[in-house]
Amino acid sequence: MMQRFDEAARLMGLEESVMNVLKVPAKAVAVNLPITMDDGSIRVFEGFRVVHSTLLGPSKGGVRYSMDVNEDEVRALAAWMTWKCAVVNIPYGGAKGGIKCDPRNMSQGELERLTRAYTLSMSEIFGPDTDIPAPDMGTGQQEMAWIVDEYSKIKNQNTWAVVTGKPLILGGSLGRVEATGRGVMVSCRSAMAKLGMNPTESSCVVQGFGNVGSISAKLISMLGVKIVGISDVSGGYHNPDGINVEEAMAFVKNSASRSLEGYTGGRKISNAELLTLPCDILVPAAMEDQITLENASDIKARLIVEGANGPTTAEADPILQEKGIMVVPDILANAGGVTVSYFEWVQNRLGYYWTEERVNRRADRVMKQAFDSVHGTAQKFNTTMRLAAYIVALDKVAATFNIRGKF
Ligand code: GLU
Repeated sequence: MMQRFDEAARLMGLEESVMNVLKVPAKAVAVNLPITMDDGSIRVFEGFRVVHSTLLGPSKGGVRYSMDVNEDEVRALAAWMTWKCAVVNIPYGGAKGGIKCDPRNMSQGELERLTRAYTLSMSEIFGPDTDIPAPDMGTGQQEMAWIVDEYSKIKNQNTWAVVTGKPLILGGSLGRVEATGRGVMVSCRSAMAKLGMNPTESSCVVQGFGNVGSISAKLISMLGVKIVGISDVSGGYHNPDGINVEEAMAFVKNSASRSLEGYTGGRKISNAELLTLPCDILVPAAMEDQITLENASDIKARLIVEGANGPTTAEADPILQEKGIMVVPDILANAGGVTVSYFEWVQNRLGYYWTEERVNRRADRVMKQAFDSVHGTAQKFNTTMRLAAYIVALDKVAATFNIRGKF
């Protein structure tokens, strides 16, 4: 995050003093949460919430449950949210939260107690006008329902707008579940048009088969693109004749392990092999640091659309650029999720709910405009789509900082 930030700031001539302000988070909170486990023992979980910036509006960003969570990671992810919201032009700052835990090996009861304890400890940070969490890796609608319920009890009033990505019956928005994948598809479609690629003659590999990966794969395949590789924690699956994405999604839903383990719709390969398969489009939608100095030169795709946050390391960027691969960066490509989070928050505050068609139409428009603005900036500065996205974001956040004034 810092490397790209520095590079973009230099390229656009951002003042050093403003750079120093935007480099560091506005607030970082770390808590230790004692939770009673089902066996009666008490375990202490580390939790974080980092508010990177509230210059453009209340801070916004997901809460991640994973054993990899640490304060540094949350700080980078929080800053990415600031840039992401600025790129798609929604009135939010950036934040991120996380709890170091292994949600796959915890019961519903344990997860509920942990989520409620986290909400209580963050109740002075969270708020519809201050900081609005959402789902991220390892969390979904159920965790958001617990957050809204716990927060509403603490504040003694139903406060739907304190969190987004909620279940529909608790003030969620139609289209929110699919929103990130849909934005990835729209970005992919825009990039293909710029590169003169014909969808029906193109193939695509998608890394990760969670909410973002599976829905991106499904919607990209609906453009006519052949999905030739997918993967998840169980490994990769390659089928040059095309994978039936809906069938794979149904397989995961019905499998005991909730993964692709045992899936026979493709030849089993490793996750490392998956990234370098012959294909036209690569969608990394799993986690950070997947495309690296080691494997970047072996990538065959000519277009990369980043569904995950930070899937490409800063060292890999110049290699991809040298190879002439277009990279639609995370802070643009996966911004469809937070865009529809914004629509959910707007609907909660209006008390008036939109049709799915309206949500999708408006989200598609936001994504298309953001893509065009970043593409135009890339041409103007003769740089990559990644640095252009940072320039668009930094320009907006820095201008807001300057006009708001300081102490
Ligand atoms: N966790 C998602 C992201 O990284 C969504 C955040 C949100 O909707 O606030 O963009």
